[in-house]
Amino acid sequence: MAETDIYAALKKYFGFTRFKGLQEEVVKSILNRQNTFVIMPTGGGKSLCYQLPALMQEGTAIVVSPLIALMKNQVDALRSLSSEEGIAHVLNSSLNKTEVKQVKSDIVNGITKLLYVAPESLTKDEYVEFLQSVKISFVAIDEAHCISEWGHDFRPEYRNLRTIIQRIGNDIPIIGLTATATPKVQEDILKNLGMQDANTFKASFNRPNLYYEIRPKTKNVDSDIIRFVKQNEGKSGIIYCLSRKRVEELAQTLQVNGVKAVPYHAGLDGKTRVKHQDMFLMEDVDVVVATIAFGMGIDKPDVRFVIHNDIPKSIESYYQETGRAGRDGGEGHCLAFYSYKDVEKLEKFMSGKPVAEQEIGHALLQEIVGFAETSISRRKFILHYFGEEFDNATGEGGMMDDNMRHPKNKHEAQDDAKLLLEIVQKTNQQYKSKEIVNVLVGKVNALIKSHRTDSQTYFGTGQAHDSSYWMALLRQLLVAGYLKKDIETYGIIKITDQGKAFIKNPVSFMMAEDHSFKDANDDAIVS
Ligand code: ADP
Repeated sequence: MAETDIYAALKKYFGFTRFKGLQEEVVKSILNRQNTFVIMPTGGGKSLCYQLPALMQEGTAIVVSPLIALMKNQVDALRSLSSEEGIAHVLNSSLNKTEVKQVKSDIVNGITKLLYVAPESLTKDEYVEFLQSVKISFVAIDEAHCISEWGHDFRPEYRNLRTIIQRIGNDIPIIGLTATATPKVQEDILKNLGMQDANTFKASFNRPNLYYEIRPKTKNVDSDIIRFVKQNEGKSGIIYCLSRKRVEELAQTLQVNGVKAVPYHAGLDGKTRVKHQDMFLMEDVDVVVATIAFGMGIDKPDVRFVIHNDIPKSIESYYQETGRAGRDGGEGHCLAFYSYKDVEKLEKFMSGKPVAEQEIGHALLQEIVGFAETSISRRKFILHYFGEEFDNATGEGGMMDDNMRHPKNKHEAQDDAKLLLEIVQKTNQQYKSKEIVNVLVGKVNALIKSHRTDSQTYFGTGQAHDSSYWMALLRQLLVAGYLKKDIETYGIIKITDQGKAFIKNPVSFMMAEDHSFKDANDDAIVS
């Protein structure tokens, strides 16, 4: 395919003259019939990556998507680009017989270039048999993180996709797309779809114009929020709360204090929700106080701040929600209030769930706690979590967070770092961070006992410091690349080559003391 053809098609179908980010490379990979894996943040332009090659190729591309509403939007958008109604279709259980017949006939006649299906529909023999009989250009799996239990929206039906695709045809290229960037989820996707050979394209998740700030949450959180909003008067902002009750209360408090604010949560009737959303979009109000029900598909480019009244349940959620600020590239202040009591509350919510789910939920929560308490650059922390290296000195937005603007004192921790790394090595790299810290401070638990680690001479050699000190150091060694989390088990800590070199030949390691939220916690309110 000549390069000019791709640009001609981009102009013809979408009216764009340029590709965004990695789109061009992705399109070429798909046109070359290669398995392709695309990781781009929301708004990165994933849809075009598969829509353009689908429109350019013979046959029909199957697009697997988890939400009917999303599919309908996409189909409507595609139809508006073409004079041909049948260019895109949805195939699902809501269609009547005549409609299904129409879809099938459009596919057989080569009119339909994109066919959106829910994973459940693909399990129907009737559909699979039909799809076997027609020409399929490729299968695109949107929101591919639904395959992984470590993603934020696990869907068991997604796990059978590979088998079904193989039934439809032997040689159909698979395209996975997601905005979830953690290495663990990516590994799950590639493995489950059997496409470790895929061409992988990962865009940066750095949002250089966003400023990240965490403050302790005290009983004065209301006045803290009011002051912040007043300082930003006239600017659009979203305030996320965990509970509907808190949403209502805070919206009212803001109104009473002269802020134009409305509540938004799933407990409000549909009409009110639409009204409040429109008021925000049309700028009749400045602030929407909302649960996480708000924001999906909302594209207001000039949201100037996102406040978290409660810390979210994972770094992914935090990233998604804060990501709604500053879409136009302008200012975007992300302020979260943190108290450990809120974390305990989130843990309590999980306690009724299946054990595996609880373990994952707990691990994700530990990450956000680490993020909230860290004293290193928040941007670096987030990007490290997403498997991306970031250098504050040279990277865009390097100074844009509270820890970089107001750095905590640092001290030389070379000896402690060496001790910690040695403990990881001596305990055969089989422990998660909690056990490693326990070994350092000399605390026994069942796992440590079962390995008889407590009778080793090194047990308790780090008693000069407490657990939180060692936990902070461990996290900083992870981000600095001396340690890594094992991807299979997620959580077991391994030493990297850089870490091994450090043990042999220690260099300076400047450690920042993590924030102490103790005082704030003693004073914390639970909202
Ligand atoms: P994602 O699915 O990654 O969240 P979308 O596919 O919805 O992102 O694209 C986000 C926005 O970017 C859309 O408004 C889309 O029209 C726009 N867009 C995509 N590709 C281009 C391009 N090459 N040039 C200009 N705008 C683009």
